[in-house]
Amino acid sequence: MTIDPALKPEFEIPQRAIAIVAHPDDTEFGCSGTVAKWTKVGCEIHFVVLTSGDKGTEDPNADIAELRRIREAEQEEAARILGVASCVFLHFTDGELVNTLEMRGAVVRQIRRFKPEVIFTWDPLTRNYRMHPDHRICGQLALEAAFPSAMMPLSYPEQLRDEGLEVHRTKKLLLFGSDLPDYQIDISAVIEQKFEAIRAHTSQFDWNKSGIEERWRKRLRQAAAGFDFEYAEAFKLVEL
Ligand SMILES: [Zn+2]
Repeated sequence: MTIDPALKPEFEIPQRAIAIVAHPDDTEFGCSGTVAKWTKVGCEIHFVVLTSGDKGTEDPNADIAELRRIREAEQEEAARILGVASCVFLHFTDGELVNTLEMRGAVVRQIRRFKPEVIFTWDPLTRNYRMHPDHRICGQLALEAAFPSAMMPLSYPEQLRDEGLEVHRTKKLLLFGSDLPDYQIDISAVIEQKFEAIRAHTSQFDWNKSGIEERWRKRLRQAAAGFDFEYAEAFKLVEL
């Protein structure tokens, strides 16, 4: 299938965006090229990380508090490499995200606080049956928080009454991990920065032995197939 690149122009880079993800390293694999590109031209981006990846080990005797500390530090380092303004860790338990009203409210609060034009998150509606459940639930929480809860004054009204927050309408979501991507963003100029940010997650893999770089180069090249650039991040675009 050939795609006419003219049909897929990159929309105007927003002033403010956030990524809502399940674990440290989700942003690096999912959207860090686009993030690096946008922060270079002045877009303010924040990462909202629902869990601190505190089950991300094969050691049954691991110290969970220590693992959480390590993974948050790795995420902060990756964010620094990408020019991201801040990371917010909501400290839900890794592997135990559930689509509850409480968790949705916690996500609504961050949307009302940062007022993003664009939200990056997981596509919850894929046919990838081996998708990490936290990724699916995270995408669902983010979508349902953005539309309609964050916009509605009678949803989580205590945030407006007691916390000084305001309702907020997000314009677009860019969903990664989608099996129906329809929006490709050229990241060729920042591909090395993306890999540098992935490498910040040293507790999760041995970069040299893992083959991650080759696999991801191939995947990002495939995402750019049909376009006149070499590497792309592919998203499902949702306009609200
Ligand atoms: Zn993850």
